[in-house]
Amino acid sequence: MGASDRRRSRASFLLVIIGAIMLAAVMGCSGDNGELIDQETCRANMNVLSTDIIVYHSIHGRWPEDLAEAEAYARRREPLVCPSSGECYEYDLSDSGYVVSCPCGLHGFVSMGRPNWVVGGTESSTP
Ligand SMILES: [Zn+2]
Repeated sequence: MGASDRRRSRASFLLVIIGAIMLAAVMGCSGDNGELIDQETCRANMNVLSTDIIVYHSIHGRWPEDLAEAEAYARRREPLVCPSSGECYEYDLSDSGYVVSCPCGLHGFVSMGRPNWVVGGTESSTP
């Protein structure tokens, strides 16, 4: 009885090891995972820019003319870029407000502080 219990626990231990190895392989080798990281970074950047713009507006009472104006106000030395393309973000100003969008069009946009993607619960879009 004791021997079969031991065998069973060794089998489940092996399953855990195999599962951990497979998980490591999937996370380490998959190109999709790198793209997912780019997407998350890009969306985080757009949230940061959106916050910069809102702060700029609350201080100056108007929207910045371009992203450089908002980023200069935020004292950022280098402009934020999409990690996939290395290009600066697009900024559109209209009567209904502003839109910050990914330059390669892969990662969505933020319109008036609202992202067009479903937020995964870890970060909030509202300041
Ligand atoms: Zn992007």
